[in-house]
Amino acid sequence: MRPTHKRLSTLDIFRELDKSNCRECGLPSCMAFASQVYQGQRQLDECPRLDPAVLSRLGGKLAAGSEAPWSGEEALSKYQARFGKGVDLAGRAEKLGGWMRAGRLVFHCLGKVFELDREGELHSDCHQNPWLQVPMLSYVLDSAAKDASGDWVRFAELKGVSSWVRFFEHSCVQPLLEMARQDPVLLQDILQLFAAQTGLDGFEADASFLLLPLPKIPFLFTYQAPDHEFPEGFAVYLDRTAEDNLDPESLFRLGRGLAEMFRRIACRHGLPLGAG
Ligand code: SF4
Repeated sequence: MRPTHKRLSTLDIFRELDKSNCRECGLPSCMAFASQVYQGQRQLDECPRLDPAVLSRLGGKLAAGSEAPWSGEEALSKYQARFGKGVDLAGRAEKLGGWMRAGRLVFHCLGKVFELDREGELHSDCHQNPWLQVPMLSYVLDSAAKDASGDWVRFAELKGVSSWVRFFEHSCVQPLLEMARQDPVLLQDILQLFAAQTGLDGFEADASFLLLPLPKIPFLFTYQAPDHEFPEGFAVYLDRTAEDNLDPESLFRLGRGLAEMFRRIACRHGLPLGAG
């Protein structure tokens, strides 16, 4: 399923801009900026000349309904139907970084144990939702299971993801940035809950966290607090092999699923975050 862009086109966004081509956003023209906003590579508020009233009106349109409705249950059923035709779980376990126990494929996800039976049902003590379950089944069925290369890239740099870039930014990166702004310590505590590795070498950031939502699909989060010299920064990186190990839609759903799970935990701790 591909996302739709019915609400706003590049031209719709361009019409609302200053059109001075002042380059303060770092791009050569307002049209280039509109195009990148449309693709999810830039946020509207990166144009310092945009009227706050326009920002509020346009931002709402970009966010609301910009993603096609998704039935997680339906997607889950489709993947489970493929298990009904017979899947060599033992063969897949060896490739995917899992193992077999009592006829089930067992693997670690976010530091928790998940078991997959021959009917495609997932079992775990960990709370489950379709945003994570569907990518898990896709991973078991279709992943090339390449080992991580250590080449960290932004989601937008992966091949084949262009239709999903703006949604990943809106539903994964921005909610996590909002959490980091409101309570960076709580976000770090939540990441630790899911067995994140910290203090990674080679990243110029105040904090970096490596999470394994699937055995061969690492996510790296970096956070830079604002200071007098640099603005606040938050970034999500994936290993380059993610493009071989999971399809673009499942990668997006995985990122969104993580952000949604963290948001719910943060809300339970009293952080006033909006609905995801
Ligand atoms: S900062 Fe705004 S007005 Fe200036 S070029 Fe970029 S989009 Fe256009």
